[in-house]
Amino acid sequence: MANNIKYFIGNWKMFGIPKSISILDKINKFVKSDKKFNKKYKIVITPPYTLIQSYAKFFSNNKISIGAQNCYHKDNFGANTGAISSLMTKSVGAQYIIIGHSDNRSEGDTDAMLKSKVENSLNNKLKVVFCIGENKEHKLGKKTFEVLEKQIKNVLEEKFNFKDIIIAYEPIWSIGTGQIPEADDLLKTTIFIKKVLRNIFKKKSSSAVLYGGSVDGKNISQFKKLNEIDGFLIGGASKSDKNFIDIIKNYYK
Ligand code: PEP
Repeated sequence: MANNIKYFIGNWKMFGIPKSISILDKINKFVKSDKKFNKKYKIVITPPYTLIQSYAKFFSNNKISIGAQNCYHKDNFGANTGAISSLMTKSVGAQYIIIGHSDNRSEGDTDAMLKSKVENSLNNKLKVVFCIGENKEHKLGKKTFEVLEKQIKNVLEEKFNFKDIIIAYEPIWSIGTGQIPEADDLLKTTIFIKKVLRNIFKKKSSSAVLYGGSVDGKNISQFKKLNEIDGFLIGGASKSDKNFIDIIKNYYK
């Protein structure tokens, strides 16, 4: 079953300086003025750590929520040069946090580290966007389901509140490549992920499951019919107000 909310989450990665807020300002003006945009849709932008506080302040009464892209695996404060804890992101206004992006997994994030990041973030009342995804080799070897199940089971636990967790299914081969999965494959994968989640959390309904990887204003129309998908994690196209607005408009038009 699909969830009621459709998420559009923008991952800015290493992009943005203070004046880039104009991008969000335009997105905000669009969603405030567009009659078709309603409570069913939720926009989250995750700028780099340096911009969370000013952006979160600016948008505190608006329809855009701000999130962080990652955090250190230990919480609170510590002698860890350059590290930012989930508590610190929450204290400056983050409401969401991306954990387990393939960029960070490839730079050394282990399942144990991810589990601790998820747990700390939930304890700090952040909603967690937990990323999973297979690489090209896994896909060709028909190992996708096995890989995804492991990535989920090694990190998520029954004790976590499933409503505070959003899964972003991001096949690594589709991130930034312009390639997207076949609709039928994506539907089957989304249904599979939801089944795994229902089993872990022992609930009748599942956490929201988003798709991420090369989503843009043109291909978004192909995802419309896949109602099981509860939204999108958007990288490249979220750095331009026009591209991001096109995605939203073309999704519900
Ligand atoms: C991402 O990196 O999370 C992502 C989805 O990127 P893109 O949309 O650019 O493929």
